[in-house]
Amino acid sequence: MTTNPIIQFKNVKKIFDDNGQVVLNDINFELESGKFYTLLGASGSGKSTILNIIAGLMDATSGDIFLDGERINDVPINKRDVHTVFQNYALLPHKNVFDNIAFPLKIRKISKAEIDRRVLEALKMVRLTGFEHRRIQKLSGGQRQRVAIARAIVNRPKVVLLDEPLSALDLKLRTEMQYELRALQQKLGITFVFVTHDQEEALAMSDWIFVINEGEIVQSGTPVDIYDEPINRFVATFIGESNIVTGIMLDDYLVEFNGKQFEAVDGGMKKNEPVEVVIRPEDLQLTLPDEGKLVVKVTTQLFRGVHYEIIAVDELGQEWMIHSTRQAIVGEVIGLNFEPEDIHIMRLNETEAEFDARIEEYVEDEVAEAGIINAIREEEVDQEV
Ligand code: ADP
Ligand code: MG
Repeated sequence: MTTNPIIQFKNVKKIFDDNGQVVLNDINFELESGKFYTLLGASGSGKSTILNIIAGLMDATSGDIFLDGERINDVPINKRDVHTVFQNYALLPHKNVFDNIAFPLKIRKISKAEIDRRVLEALKMVRLTGFEHRRIQKLSGGQRQRVAIARAIVNRPKVVLLDEPLSALDLKLRTEMQYELRALQQKLGITFVFVTHDQEEALAMSDWIFVINEGEIVQSGTPVDIYDEPINRFVATFIGESNIVTGIMLDDYLVEFNGKQFEAVDGGMKKNEPVEVVIRPEDLQLTLPDEGKLVVKVTTQLFRGVHYEIIAVDELGQEWMIHSTRQAIVGEVIGLNFEPEDIHIMRLNETEAEFDARIEEYVEDEVAEAGIINAIREEEVDQEV
């Protein structure tokens, strides 16, 4: 059984009239109910514009937006079953916590007893029981953000939109709130669409990430997909630190870089196609120079708490970053090792659609042979029967 997407964008474009800037260029996605989605991108990439179009705070220039199967382009804000949490909380400063949370219920003319029940339940969920009479001005930043979240969920909307809700908080509180928001989303089973420019936050919290750049979705997938198989240099550098070098894909499973050939696990490209090669710092192992696939000289080393961050340079002058629990010595010549599966190959200028199509075709080719063998076996079994 397939269920309707809770939110769908079909060919959504946004151009601002005043300057003709294309802020969203043909955005398409389907969001499943009950999942935690993140829009990840640098400032100005168009994340808030997407949220505002879902909420009804902005109109799309063209394209269709669906909420739970219904086209909502012309549905007013207050008739959309979504609620937004903003970075600046947008609370009513002179009202107390209870009245702020009760606000969306009061405008819907719900009975007082029911309002009391739901507000207290929402307060409990954000761990603010007992704070109902506190004034907003008397609350810390973290507590205010909790009130804003309680207000967003009190009405049990179909979708909660969160626009960089944690970026005003200090690191410790932000990490704590990341856990809480994730737990709350799972408990409620409401779809969350969360916006951040912080890669670690996106990787830690999401079921599914959309990486946005200049008004386009450049890649989407699970956090592991995106971290392990970035489709291009933009995504690779945006999602954490990486070593990226140019190379040539000589054949399936065989790549050349740094003037040497290496076994890899990628394929489906043209012979001798120029590519970019990504190796994560944590996938490089320190070894003796004559046992390493690469030989490098250590230039700097920093202790980062969990690991040492080592920068070393190879004979071609290319820098490599290594994360290792082992220590190196500045000036020392060392070997670096890595496994074929640690080499991630990116085609130049490949779009997400091309990437998906190539992987699919390639995997199909790979299983085709196995498939033929299975078909022969099935036929044999049929004949025996
Ligand atoms: P993000 O949330 O990813 O930082 P936004 O969606 O807020 O990005 O903005 C995307 C682009 O649209 C930016 O270049 C911004 O300057 C522009 N923009 C946003 N709102 C307006 C507006 N009301 N009028 C004109 N341009 C806007
Ligand atoms: Mg924004």
